[in-house]
Amino acid sequence: VPPALPTRPTSRSRRPSSRRSLPVSVKILFQKLRVWCWPQNIQWELGRVQSITGENVQIILSDGTVVRVPTENILPANPDILEGVDDLIQLSYLNEPSVLHNLNNRFSHDMIYTKAGPVLVAINPFKKVSLYGNDRVSAYRQKLTDKPHVYAISDTAFNQMMRAILTHGLLHSGESGAGKTETAKIAMQYLAALGGGSGIENEVLKTSSILESFGNAKTLRNDNSSRFGKLIEIRFATSGKICGARIQTFSFEQSRVVQRAKGERSYHIFYQLCAGAPPRLKEHLNLKSAREYDYLNQSDCLTIDDVDDARRFKMLMEALDVVQIRKEDQRSAFAMLAAVLWLGNISFSVIDNENHVETVEDEGVTTAARLMGCGVRDLMLSLSTRKIQVGNDNIVQKLTLSKAIDARDALAKSIYASLFDWLVEQINNSLEAGKENTGRSISILDIYGFESFHKNGFEQFCINYANERLQQHFNRHLFKLEQEDYTQDGIDWTRVEFEDNQECLNLFEKKPLGLLSLLDEESNFPKATDLTFATKLKQHLNSNYYFKGERGGAFKVCHYAGEVLYDTSGFLEKNRDPLHIDFMNLLSSCRCELPQLFGRNMLNESKKLLSPLRRLHATDSQKQSVGAKFKVQLFKLMQRLENTSPHFIRCIKPNTKQLPGIYDKDLVLQQLRCCGVLEVVRIARSGYPTRMTHQQFAKRYGFLLLEDVESHDPLSISVAVLQHYNVLPDMYQVGYTKLFFRTGQIGALDDARNQT
Ligand code: ATP
Ligand code: MG
Repeated sequence: VPPALPTRPTSRSRRPSSRRSLPVSVKILFQKLRVWCWPQNIQWELGRVQSITGENVQIILSDGTVVRVPTENILPANPDILEGVDDLIQLSYLNEPSVLHNLNNRFSHDMIYTKAGPVLVAINPFKKVSLYGNDRVSAYRQKLTDKPHVYAISDTAFNQMMRAILTHGLLHSGESGAGKTETAKIAMQYLAALGGGSGIENEVLKTSSILESFGNAKTLRNDNSSRFGKLIEIRFATSGKICGARIQTFSFEQSRVVQRAKGERSYHIFYQLCAGAPPRLKEHLNLKSAREYDYLNQSDCLTIDDVDDARRFKMLMEALDVVQIRKEDQRSAFAMLAAVLWLGNISFSVIDNENHVETVEDEGVTTAARLMGCGVRDLMLSLSTRKIQVGNDNIVQKLTLSKAIDARDALAKSIYASLFDWLVEQINNSLEAGKENTGRSISILDIYGFESFHKNGFEQFCINYANERLQQHFNRHLFKLEQEDYTQDGIDWTRVEFEDNQECLNLFEKKPLGLLSLLDEESNFPKATDLTFATKLKQHLNSNYYFKGERGGAFKVCHYAGEVLYDTSGFLEKNRDPLHIDFMNLLSSCRCELPQLFGRNMLNESKKLLSPLRRLHATDSQKQSVGAKFKVQLFKLMQRLENTSPHFIRCIKPNTKQLPGIYDKDLVLQQLRCCGVLEVVRIARSGYPTRMTHQQFAKRYGFLLLEDVESHDPLSISVAVLQHYNVLPDMYQVGYTKLFFRTGQIGALDDARNQT
């Protein structure tokens, strides 16, 4: 039987989760108690119990109103002294309204960080908060404060890396606009302060702003939304100084270059270039203002409030210098950007009644060809025709208007995506060059969170698949490993149920009957359409609990975070690698100044070295589908994460307006559920978070009783210490190899130790 899935609330009102009525003994306990009640089906309210009659409770709310609610609509609230605790684990009652209230209480005092056991919860303040800077960094470095903070979690990772475990990961997740990128940058700043001195930390910090220019855009949810996932591995020398870094990016959103929703922008860099390019560069690129480019002006949004694109461009150029991208490479990269913009202005004229077209020879195509370094005629032809092989003959086929536009857009997207990859490679070369590799590293992951919109397409499909994998990593790490540790050591521990999402992952990954395989299969049929794909899914997957075929080419997947309705329109086109071989040939002949950009070296090399058959094969493997490539990248990422000791940071968006001071309880609750924070707290509190082997324990505390610790059996010494110091039996458990302690127990023993 598949586990029950939490459903993401679709309406803004939520019913309370407890539906049981109270036993009499509890009713008596509830007299005068502070409780959460649900009077008008709007939200939880705090009050005090006045009386209980039958199944109803009379409650006086904090504003003095008296309400009667059914017992099933009340939950215990925490005593005053637990208002705003640092760690949710400290709460006596861990129900949803209490957790929400605690976070809200802290948020309203600008305490945006809260621990949930091993997880750090960070609520986006949407304003400057005075939690950062040199003084704060020193306070955390010198352990003058133990308040939850990204600094604290980065400090822990750093110290552990220096002492024992070499590789760590700070894993940020959350919805768009929740603050992943900002929080990741704050962590990087802390690590740069700790491991600074070599100068390379400045380069590492600058990479963020460069990648943001090229990979972030204004969306309806976030003015600076990252449209790619990023893992940056910061490497440290044995001395603890930063000695290099390596960036890995994945699932870059290419489609944004040519189209997007109204009110959104393309990548920042285009507007920055148009607004800020110095006159000579402008002239060289034949650059106009952003509104004159069709790729930019189509979505009715050219500027962002309070952002000066021209100034950002100057900062970008400085940053490119810092990471040592050569001036001529910078100029070539700008030329490629301009080429993309001019491609968007290329138009076609229909030449017959079958809607076939010719490319119009105008400023668009001539400038694009000049910037790319190819002949105007060659570019015009490759945009309006396609060579196909029939038997032994090469036939030139004219393209229809819509096909020609698709081809032009595919070319623009792929130039931009190659430019992005090239840039990452250049940055990596400069950050890695000649640096020692000691194996010590802290990796910071910033990847977009689960997305569920009114309409969900191929992009959401990929993003949510990735999040499903990351959630499994989280589950496995926090829940499974925990349980296994207890079980392996033979201690008595009531198993805690957790939701394993392996089945849902199988739905995506299984061969041949998983979503990704079926998509690839259908993408290879020339006659297939998005609708035949949808039908195929229904045919093969309808019995799967996690899948539901819907009308009109849609389907639903039961994700860990709730059901998502996907619309298959565009799936096949987006999954096929859209760049036709004609374009690959054109690109490989370009005299553009960035030959690596189009893999030209590689193409030429492979032509020289491989037999025709193997060459065909090489071309084939280059044409792996987008979905398949995504899966490979994801597996590579997961492999790297498996080998790092993870620290989880869950970013929460308090409202959808991107405004300070607004805490939308429903929105927060839904995110807490999606990222498993509530479960984590429950487990951490009910379990035994502190563990030590018998040997470690005997060595650390044995001397409190004995002088000659070495000659005794560690287990007997341990038990004697525990008894001597009156540690209560339900506060610890003795396993085969380890001792397990509840929260706070070791602290007391350490006090005794320090006093000796
Ligand atoms: P996406 O998935 O769209 O990339 P994200 O989770 O990376 O979203 P961010 O870009 O980090 O979100 O944050 C969105 C905005 O919220 C920032 O531009 C900034 O204005 C604000 N913000 C986030 N974290 C903080 C913080 N700690 N202090 C102040 N402002 C913040
Ligand atoms: Mg981001």
